[in-house]
Amino acid sequence: MLSCFPERSPNLRRGRLDPGDWPALRELGHRMLDEMLDSIEAIRSLPVWRPMPQTAREALREPAPDEPTSPQQVYRQFREAVAPYATGNRHPRFFGWVHGSGTAGGMLAEMLAAGLNSNAGGRDHAAIEVERVVVGWFRSLFGLPDEASGLIVTGTSLANFIAVVVARTARLGPRSRADGLRGAPPLVAYASVEAHASVDRAFELSGLGGAALRKIPVDRRRRIDVELLEKQLAADREAGLEPFALIGMAGTVNTGAIDDLARLADVAARERLWFHVDGAFGALVALSPALRPRLRGIERADSIAFDFHKWLHVPYDAACVLVRDGELHRAAFAGSAPYLTPAERGLAAGAPWPCDFGPELSRGFRALKVWFTIKEHGLRRLGAAIAENVRQADLLGRMVEAHPLLELLAPVELNIVCFRFRPPAPLEPPVLDELNEAIVFSLQESGVAAPSLTTLDGVRSIRVNLTNHRTDDDDLELLLHEISVRGERLAAVSDVAAG
Ligand SMILES: *Cc1c(COP(=O)(O)O)cnc(C)c1O
Repeated sequence: MLSCFPERSPNLRRGRLDPGDWPALRELGHRMLDEMLDSIEAIRSLPVWRPMPQTAREALREPAPDEPTSPQQVYRQFREAVAPYATGNRHPRFFGWVHGSGTAGGMLAEMLAAGLNSNAGGRDHAAIEVERVVVGWFRSLFGLPDEASGLIVTGTSLANFIAVVVARTARLGPRSRADGLRGAPPLVAYASVEAHASVDRAFELSGLGGAALRKIPVDRRRRIDVELLEKQLAADREAGLEPFALIGMAGTVNTGAIDDLARLADVAARERLWFHVDGAFGALVALSPALRPRLRGIERADSIAFDFHKWLHVPYDAACVLVRDGELHRAAFAGSAPYLTPAERGLAAGAPWPCDFGPELSRGFRALKVWFTIKEHGLRRLGAAIAENVRQADLLGRMVEAHPLLELLAPVELNIVCFRFRPPAPLEPPVLDELNEAIVFSLQESGVAAPSLTTLDGVRSIRVNLTNHRTDDDDLELLLHEISVRGERLAAVSDVAAG
């Protein structure tokens, strides 16, 4: 068996930036590993988040040093000024936005990837092979054909952008890569008003312009209203516009709503639209046999974007874009620079290269932590953790409904619960909004729990997102208890202020 871990020899020469004292660095490395694993193991006993004090911020703001600092010293500063002030998403009571909680195994895989320092942009080596394996796993999970291509990217923001560029280039032809939109028909695309901001950005960046994305209202469950979509399509064609793409949401960031993807696939087929699914977190419910039917229609998508770092808990950052027709994907990005031409053999073999499927050339070995996570836990356990969060969201929704001082503000569709504190004495809407904001700020600052805020139909809402494999049911009870205690206290104070 070949090994990249040779026998140790005391006489090895070292590079100019290699450690001067290998044994000392080795000891430091083991200590870092132990302490970081300790911090993950004991995460429940720490505050979710603490604001970074000015002194810690200032301690970091030093000029770039001309002279070396010992790694022991650098690590000391990391422990004091960086590590305590992390985002907080490793904690079981981090409920904000949509964040994954990470895993210890994923962290180790990230370390191994950094150790190999592979550049997964191209050429013939194992990092690219691992990426192909991971892409293949998800291609079959979503029921896409073998010709489908995929690329591991930083996040669904970039995955959405790539999908929009592929859809645009597929419609206008590869010449549009040179011509841009000069002489192009007025392309328009469709998504619901609940589509993620990164979809708007994809249209801005692709040159199509944000206004080319038509926002369709949603139904009571906050899914795209397909009848209004069809009306808008007809009106746009009437007005001489050229519809070319339809974006379905598998899990909206506000409320977790999943559009009726099968109906959208029908509309896309009939209207000859590129059908893209933004499934940043929601697409991963495909891993749960019980939840999977909610994605019906996703297997007919032309492209799918989803994150590994959210509901699969792979350490930041990692996401994926899949494209049904791999040739169209390649045609949108493939380059021909002479120094990047794949060879028949040698290190420059292994075509096609990932750099021909997206805007990035140099790329880290992100696939390793995804591969490691899936191997370590298996799809069944990962799917069960997702299903558990969905059960918890349903439970939390029912606890809110049963609570005299809380009001549910949106149906619980998946893993997100939106509600507010409402004291018995009626408050003016702006005062009630401010009260709920104050509750969330106070909770975050206390370190007890970290939900976030959103606005639904003009109403400020406490938003609890469950993409957290460490959350237990009693964390939810504690959350509601803390919200009502704080709500009553803050409402009393505002009474005093008002009276
Ligand atoms: C998070 C999210 C995105 C953006 O993904 P990033 O990984 O943050 O780039 C896009 N769409 C939805 C629905 C999301 O939840």
